Amino acid sequence: EREKLQEVAQIPSQTKDGLEFDLSVNISSVRELDHPLVSAVKGVGLFRTEFLYMDRDSFPSEEEQYEVYKEAAEKLDGKPMIIRTFDIGGDKQLDYFTFLEEEDNPFLGYRALRICLDKVSLFKTQLKAILRAGVHGNIKLMYPMVTSLEEVRKAKLILEECKQELREKGIPYADQIQVGITIEVPAAAAIADMLAEEVDFFSIGTNDLVQYILAVDRMNEKIADLYEPFHPAVIRYLKVVAGAAQKAGIELSVCGELAGDERALPLWIALGIHKLSMSLQSVLNVKNVLVHLDASASDLLLDELMSCRTSEEIKALLDRVIERSQ
Ligand code: PEP
Ligand code: MG
Repeated sequence: EREKLQEVAQIPSQTKDGLEFDLSVNISSVRELDHPLVSAVKGVGLFRTEFLYMDRDSFPSEEEQYEVYKEAAEKLDGKPMIIRTFDIGGDKQLDYFTFLEEEDNPFLGYRALRICLDKVSLFKTQLKAILRAGVHGNIKLMYPMVTSLEEVRKAKLILEECKQELREKGIPYADQIQVGITIEVPAAAAIADMLAEEVDFFSIGTNDLVQYILAVDRMNEKIADLYEPFHPAVIRYLKVVAGAAQKAGIELSVCGELAGDERALPLWIALGIHKLSMSLQSVLNVKNVLVHLDASASDLLLDELMSCRTSEEIKALLDRVIERSQ
């Protein structure tokens, strides 16, 4: 089984006509890096670090986090890894986070970077651990739930403070670490051109982006059929973000579940997005569809996609493109 996986995994990640894709994986623990497919992907496009904070009764120390990130970096042996600072709050609550109160609208509440900018010492502990681990591999840093330029600037200032404190203590760290943001709130998508001037990369978090664009709670089963990533409004936002990143010349990837949906591949081609990060289980499916696709007609496809009026039309169009290629 392991060998078969490795064999399929060695097939290049590119369309029939040679358009290359970077396929990376999303992980929430270092253990996942032992999976045989890891050797075949580009790297880690999203390390969800909140799991380091879960199933315990106190905050993980800088040292403890450093060890985890370092181990991950070493396992990846030079491949890039995007570490996302903790996204706690929303649906993820912790007993020992005593300052987290029950909220009427947790997804619109005290969450992720919002907590970090408020509980700065907690934020700094994680930032320093990541900066230090950066010495042991190709680590990039990503902030979740950004909604404004000010938040990014504040986070960057705090990062500079962390660097200075490490420098003063003579502790080695990655001074040139790349900094990016998750685009997962419509406000951030709408000002993507301005945000692009502040950061090295964007990663589109479609799980939250879809939830917030459509005002559909991603956890609520009663309205699960309204949670529609192929809604024309979502496609419009994706186009805005892709355009902004391309114009600024910064790296752009997608790390939400949609990245692992093979049906979306013609959409990424049309939008000029060639970096996808997905769960390990999705890699082979995505690759199997990718290698049959023809990228050359993508410009036409974008116009056609943008003129679709319903998600059904969009899905039918994407399916047609894929069927034609099989
Ligand atoms: C997302 O929102 O798309 C994402 C990748 O992050 P999470 O699912 O952890 O919120
Ligand atoms: Mg998210």
